[in-house]
Amino acid sequence: MKYLDEFSNPELALRLIDQIKAVATRRWSIMEVCGGQTHSIIRHGIDQLLPDTIEMIHGPGCPVCVTPLEVIDKALEIASRPEVIFCSFGDMLRVPGSEKDLFRVKSEGGDVRVVYSPLDALTIARANPDRQVVFFGIGFETTAPANAMTVYQAKRLGIENFSLLVSHVLVPPAISAIMESPTCRVQAFLAAGHVCAVMGTDEYPPLCDKYGIPIVVTGFEPLDILEGIRRTVVQLESGRHELENAYPRAVQDVGNPAAKAMLLDVFDVTDRAWRGIGVIPSSGWRLSHAYREYDAEQRFAVGDIHTEESTVCRSGEVLQGLIKPHECSAFGTLCTPRNPLGATMVSSEGACAAYYLYRRLEVTHA
Ligand code: SF4
Repeated sequence: MKYLDEFSNPELALRLIDQIKAVATRRWSIMEVCGGQTHSIIRHGIDQLLPDTIEMIHGPGCPVCVTPLEVIDKALEIASRPEVIFCSFGDMLRVPGSEKDLFRVKSEGGDVRVVYSPLDALTIARANPDRQVVFFGIGFETTAPANAMTVYQAKRLGIENFSLLVSHVLVPPAISAIMESPTCRVQAFLAAGHVCAVMGTDEYPPLCDKYGIPIVVTGFEPLDILEGIRRTVVQLESGRHELENAYPRAVQDVGNPAAKAMLLDVFDVTDRAWRGIGVIPSSGWRLSHAYREYDAEQRFAVGDIHTEESTVCRSGEVLQGLIKPHECSAFGTLCTPRNPLGATMVSSEGACAAYYLYRRLEVTHA
């Protein structure tokens, strides 16, 4: 296939669904890791076309959603300072902190700017040498290389008024945490294709062996997802638990060596808190010793900000696949995209937003 819309071909989709129906003889629960995959599944009604025996569980792979409240509060504190130009991708501006969001800071006079690349923030820093420019560096292995490159360039060019507020998280430790949860129902994973395009696939076979789970690297278009599900179900039915790459047009086993080398230089692995889930050991990155001077958390001394998560929002359970969004009592009532209580209702990759946008509004509170 040559063009993107061919990956949405309804005849081919129905053929794949028939193949899945033909092979599935038992109930299976499969988690799609990435929020982009969740949106594709809900938007195209893929979960409704699958046989009743296949349940899709929505995973934690939404970068905005898993950024802890505490980090949002640190961003709000830094962005409120008069000497700061705070740069971020647009999807972080409406994520609620404990009292407000970045839009509110902007309306109160904070210099908050939406950029389309962290390198834009570096350009702003060069143009404003008497201001401090901070980029909000969140997300998974997908967004981290560009952030690493920006810090590398800042150091190389001697730009001292730039810093990065880092909250990067990693997929493989999250898979381990989900599998080790006593309430885990997941029997297989669709791994996130774009993460593997950067990192390669080496980290996954040990997880397949340790937890006895198939992991299929999967893309984001409807046919990509259906093919990922088909391969997963074939493995489950035959008792296999292997890594398969169903997204070879984007993913090579070695990943992107140049990006990995940059990540290794600029970041160290560290424990990270995930919003609504808690601390997962060795599940994130922080700036390495050589680049620590570019750490906004240290530069603005906001390390002491600690915030409790909301007791109303059940996004932690949503992110672990323990409940579906419409099972939260606030879904569609107290919590809507216009008045979100949690990041999973704000983000373009959030499961709550997907259920709201595509009208799965029936409330079945757990
Ligand atoms: S519906 Fe709103 S309150 Fe409920 S889990 Fe989702 S984001 Fe949180």
